[in-house]
Amino acid sequence: MRQITNHMPTAELQALDAAHHMHPFTTNADLAKKGVRIITRAEGVTLTDSEGQEILDGMAGLWCVNLGYGRQELADVAARQMMELPFYNTFFQTSHVPAIALASRIAELAPGDLNHVFFAGSGSESNDTNIRMVRHYWALKGKPSKTVIISRKNGYHGSSVGSGSLGGMAGMHAQGGLPIPDITHIDQPYWYKEGGDMSPEEFGLARARQLEEKILELGVDRVAAFIGEPIQGAGGVIIPPSTYWPEIQRICDEYGILLIADEVITGFGRTGNWFGSQTLGIRPHIMTIAKGLSSGYAPIGGSIVCDEVANVIGADEFNHGYTYSGHPVAAAVALETLRIMDEEKVIEHVRDVAHPYLAKRWHALADHPLVGETCLIGLMGSLSLVPEKNGSKEFAAPEGTAGYIVREQCFANNVIMRHVGDRMIIAPPLVITPEQIDVMMDRATLALDKAHAQLKAEGLMKAA
Ligand code: PMP
Repeated sequence: MRQITNHMPTAELQALDAAHHMHPFTTNADLAKKGVRIITRAEGVTLTDSEGQEILDGMAGLWCVNLGYGRQELADVAARQMMELPFYNTFFQTSHVPAIALASRIAELAPGDLNHVFFAGSGSESNDTNIRMVRHYWALKGKPSKTVIISRKNGYHGSSVGSGSLGGMAGMHAQGGLPIPDITHIDQPYWYKEGGDMSPEEFGLARARQLEEKILELGVDRVAAFIGEPIQGAGGVIIPPSTYWPEIQRICDEYGILLIADEVITGFGRTGNWFGSQTLGIRPHIMTIAKGLSSGYAPIGGSIVCDEVANVIGADEFNHGYTYSGHPVAAAVALETLRIMDEEKVIEHVRDVAHPYLAKRWHALADHPLVGETCLIGLMGSLSLVPEKNGSKEFAAPEGTAGYIVREQCFANNVIMRHVGDRMIIAPPLVITPEQIDVMMDRATLALDKAHAQLKAEGLMKAA
């Protein structure tokens, strides 16, 4: 067998990658021509690539490496757990200490009576659990017609058949026969682009009331649940107007439908509280978790379930589960992640240090000639790229052209920001220091300057 190592020339690794590795959400043919960027190691908030470049990771991997890279404690716990008990299942009336300890700790942290955890290996799997759980809940309550789940356009809940159906990504629905039946989507609370003449407050109410209209259109006896990310992440870090979630909560309460908060990104400190629901004043029946739960060091997700739903579901056999539900190594790593978050007061750091410091620098970008609005909550932020300052918000070029150019300039300037269409987003590790925020923002600002010059030179600074 051929040894493939970090020390091989980049071009050779790229050729092997192109020959054998299919990448998610990628046009693999284009990538093969260009050559993939290969990350070889990482420490703190910094990645190193196969060319020896050091890149500040403004996206915490994929919104998950909240404690930063190279944490010895997490590696030690994983190694210990692998020797003690690398795997055992949680089916067939058995359990193990890591799953018991993690479920107990999550129940302590979660608000209200969210006291029960159903584990999975990812956010997608957890949302698939939620689809089956809420439908089965209503069936057990003698209301089997309540099967419809209402979700939002441009929401993201994962990539499996179920969770991809819950999501409202048109590009995903166009491939592979999604959505599955009985999932329906209302409009997103994206005031900056869709608010028209309404104030943010009016718009937030209007968009939330689409939920009520949808429930009335379908009939309450058809609706099982509403699902939403407290703040849309993959859709572009869209922070809803302040009126939005209270109105959604009122409607869910009034019509007695289950409320699922997808906390895969917003959970575990991202917004300056343990959960985004706490930051936004949401009282969900179920929360989806993953990513930051283990700081991305091991794949694990889950559904945190309230007493009422767990008790009803628990009265019958729930024919559902994954081999890796509560995987002992992943659970041990997650438990250690949560311990470190306590010990190092990571949430206080986000709230009192990192957020206020980043907020000053991030919002200062609003003066940049390429930038429209800037948004930041905790350590998740976005900015919109615009062709005209205080004028048109849409470029003449196809959506995403400007965003892609800025992203490439970021890469070239050794900082990772992601683009969603013509919006740039950041979500750095939660442990990022003010000095590192300065480095990140200096590089990001330079990248915006260079992208602006490039867009002008290529004749792309034109409004639609
Ligand atoms: N829900 C949300 C809100 C997410 O952001 C994601 C992933 N970005 C998922 C679910 C899916 O998680 P996973 O990729 O772990 O399946």
